[in-house]
Amino acid sequence: MGTDSSSSATATAGIDAVELAREAEALLGGLIRFNTVNPPGNEEQAQQFLADHLRAAGFQCELLAAEPGRPNLLARLKGSAPGPTLCYLGHVDTVLANPAEWQRDPWSGEIVDGFLWGRGAIDMKSQVAAEIAACAALARAGWRPATGELLIAAVVDEETGGELGAQWITREHPDKSRCDLLINEGGGAFFDYAGRRCYGVCCAEKGVFRFAVSTDGTAAHASLPALGDNALLKMGPVLDRLAARQPSYALCAEAQAFLEAVGEDPGDPVGAVERMRQSDPVLARVFEPMLGITFSPTRIRASEKINVIPSLAECKVDCRVPPGLGEDEVRAAIVEVLGEPGPPGVEYRTEFTERIAGNRSPADSNLMDTIATWVAEQDPGARAVPVVLPGFTDSRHYRDAFPDCVAYGFFPHRHQSLLETSPLIHGADERIDVRDLGFATQFFCDVALRTLG
Ligand SMILES: [Zn+2]
Repeated sequence: MGTDSSSSATATAGIDAVELAREAEALLGGLIRFNTVNPPGNEEQAQQFLADHLRAAGFQCELLAAEPGRPNLLARLKGSAPGPTLCYLGHVDTVLANPAEWQRDPWSGEIVDGFLWGRGAIDMKSQVAAEIAACAALARAGWRPATGELLIAAVVDEETGGELGAQWITREHPDKSRCDLLINEGGGAFFDYAGRRCYGVCCAEKGVFRFAVSTDGTAAHASLPALGDNALLKMGPVLDRLAARQPSYALCAEAQAFLEAVGEDPGDPVGAVERMRQSDPVLARVFEPMLGITFSPTRIRASEKINVIPSLAECKVDCRVPPGLGEDEVRAAIVEVLGEPGPPGVEYRTEFTERIAGNRSPADSNLMDTIATWVAEQDPGARAVPVVLPGFTDSRHYRDAFPDCVAYGFFPHRHQSLLETSPLIHGADERIDVRDLGFATQFFCDVALRTLG
């Protein structure tokens, strides 16, 4: 039951590292045994379980629901003087799991050979358990913030967009959910690159600008092909071009900072990706999307009938965009990849179906310094590096609602690497190395102690 070196801050607060790790394991096992697959979510019992644990430790708890049976939990520990609110955010819902594809029951929460198994063991009941075990242990030890407030937000409904969870609570209860500093999911598992051990701190998330590419033709009976003008065949060159390349790199400040931190030249992203590919092709595939706009065609449709030549074909493209870039840059990227519509190229039309800009927090902050110092202490020689998440999390709702809030995604793993954890997220056999659960629990203890005094 390894816990890593006990940190001075946590030890000073009189908290035993082994006990702390056990508490996190018990909470995570308990949480996984509540099936909170969303839809439907059904998170209420899990939330009651967490609220009971925090209330017993001395937290003021409140359950706030947009819909019956799906409450969000806010738990706070107030300090004696005014100061910043530090919030630990997590979601308790999960995606589905097909037991037939798993080696173990996805809702067992059992520990086998040092791994705790189950849906949510990485994304993200583990982080919720670590946050709550850390905060409850601090409160039971008699610690209270010297200034400010420690806030825990365990929300519902993240996996389908956060409408009843983070989005709702920040919109309907801004006074209760407001925070200055936020730690959420989205980073923290280590990776090794060019002889350096790095822990990614997610500072920014890409936006979504989905669009449809359409081609037009003339309908006719499929038995007389020359009488029609087949829109589906015109989609061929469009797909060829989408397959051939991605738009040129467009580095946001956080992506530049990432390249610099891993020892690469932000002025030469092409060379950087090439070197990354040679050193570790999988790592290159994971990190390259940070560096610009990406296109992934995912759906296509044409004729509704097998015997009718289609007059319209439509391909849907999932497009992810670094923060700071928007529709103009995406339009330019479309022309770069597909060419100008019309002769001598392909005649096509595009239409945006979703436009959500990326979001970010400053990569330079006291909270980043606290994280970087902690990483360097716990894993000598390792460093914290800013990363951009290709997807998005509930952090965007907090950044939208509270523009001054500094929000990062961070859940440190020092045993299970980024490349080991990534395929388990939303995949089969999701499990966490219990040593990492203990490691992260210490992190949440230490950050609270160092930030709020
Ligand atoms: Zn998640």
